[in-house]
This record gives sequence, C-alpha cells and structure tokens, in this order.
Amino acid sequence: MSLVRVEHVFKDYRLGEQTVHALHDITWSIDAGVFLAISGPSGSGKTTLLNLIGCIDKPSSGKIYINEEDVSEKSPNELADLRSRSIGFVFQTFNLLPVLSAAENVEYPLLRRAEISSEERKQRVDYFLEIVGLAKFADHRPNQLSGGQRQRVAIARALAIKPAIVLADEPTANLDKATGREILSLMKQINRHLKTTFIFSTHDQKVIDRADRLVQMEDGCITAFGVRNETDKTWNLARVRPVADSENE
Ligand code: ADP
Ligand code: MG
Repeated sequence: MSLVRVEHVFKDYRLGEQTVHALHDITWSIDAGVFLAISGPSGSGKTTLLNLIGCIDKPSSGKIYINEEDVSEKSPNELADLRSRSIGFVFQTFNLLPVLSAAENVEYPLLRRAEISSEERKQRVDYFLEIVGLAKFADHRPNQLSGGQRQRVAIARALAIKPAIVLADEPTANLDKATGREILSLMKQINRHLKTTFIFSTHDQKVIDRADRLVQMEDGCITAFGVRNETDKTWNLARVRPVADSENE
C-alpha cells in the first residue's frame, strides 16, 4: 500500500487573463518511510506539488490518495482534520509565530486536537524539543534563536502531531551551508529512528544527495524517478518521457 498516490494530477492557476499550467499530468506513488527529495529549477512546480500532497490546495483535475483514501472528495473541514493528524509542514522561512515561545510554537498544532490532554501536550513538547536539541531553549522566542534553531523548532512542531508524513519545502534554502547540512542530518535521523516519511524540495545537489529517493521536475512534469544505490551511493535514475512530449495539448 502506498502512503501517497497521485494520479493524473493537473494544476492550473488563473493569473488575470492567463492560465499558468503549474503541474501537468503527474502520476506517482510514495512508499511509507522514504526520505525523498523533489528537485527542479525554480518554477518547476515543486511547491505546488507539495501543497497538493499536503492538502493545502486541490488539483484542477486528477486524484490524490493518502493511505488509499481519496482526498479530492473531502470538505475543507475534513482536510483540516486530516492535516492536523497526519501531515507536518516545514517551510523555507520557518513560519513560527513570533509572539510564542519555542515550546508554545511546538504545542500550537496540538491545540486543535481536543483528544490530546494538556499533560500529553506538555510531554510531546518536551520530547520533541529534546529530539531537535533545543530543550534548553523552550522559553525562547523565535527572534532569540538562530536560523538553524528556528528550523529545529519548526521540525519539532511538525513532529508533535506524530504525522505520517513531513513535507518540507526547501527547508535549507534560508540557512548557511553548514547549518543546512545539520538540519538535513537531523531530518534523516528522525526518518531512521521514528520512521517518519519525509518529502522535501530543494535545488541544492548536496541536499539531494542525502535523500534515498528522488523525483526530478521540470516545467510542471516529472522527468525522472531516482533510487539511491545503498552501496556506492550513486543514483539509479529512470527517466520519464521528455518534457517536449507533454506539451501537445
Ligand atoms: P517551484 O516551487 O518549483 O519554484 P511553484 O510550484 O512555486 O514552483 O510554481 C510553479 C508554477 O506555477 C510557476 O510558473 C509559478 O509562477 C506558478 N504559480 C505558483 N503559484 C501560483 C499562484 N498562486 N498563482 C499563479 N501562478 C502560480
Ligand atoms: Mg517553491
């Protein structure tokens, strides 16, 4: 069973008089437990695809299944509920709430889960801040933290709901190289130990090379699927049809 299945998904945006074809006939499935990179130049559709998988936005046509459940049929409330239980988000610009402490930011997504007691919320906050190495910074506000520390808080916040999937849109793009590598290592450790599935977008080759699965995108299409060879660490790439073939409409 696939964790995520995308079938013939198209996404168009209306921009004034124009229509932007952001995604063109994407078909793809993702197994649970992978550490997967979506690579491609700016404008290739990475964020759009992550937003669809994350149920933040809906496809113009096509189907998306999460745990074999069709999410295209769900109401906004049902989607919010699904997100709050199953999907953690990490963003390029961290997106922490500036007036809340690190601990309160991590707790925040748990507040809409009525079944989680305040005691359990506190346990989860402590546990995940510890995992990201920030137990001592629980009371600090985002502006008292470095970029790398802010991204660690964001990762703890994503994990606090115990999601099936963490979606990270260019999580290292606003960090210096060394900090970006640390964040990737942290995500990888969590992937190994907690078995959380990570899907992250990037155009940094160093970040791509930390992944164990790869999807390459260009002009709204998937151009290759990659599986990393565990012994010599090279990529086995299966190319999909050339981009030009997809432009006959
Ligand atoms: P990436 O994340 O790979 O840079 P995006 O998914 O952000 O790519 O964008 C894919 C295409 O869709 C681009 O041409 C972009 O300009 C367009 N696009 C993205 N979001 C919107 C939007 N809200 N309205 C109109 N066009 C958009
Ligand atoms: Mg993007």
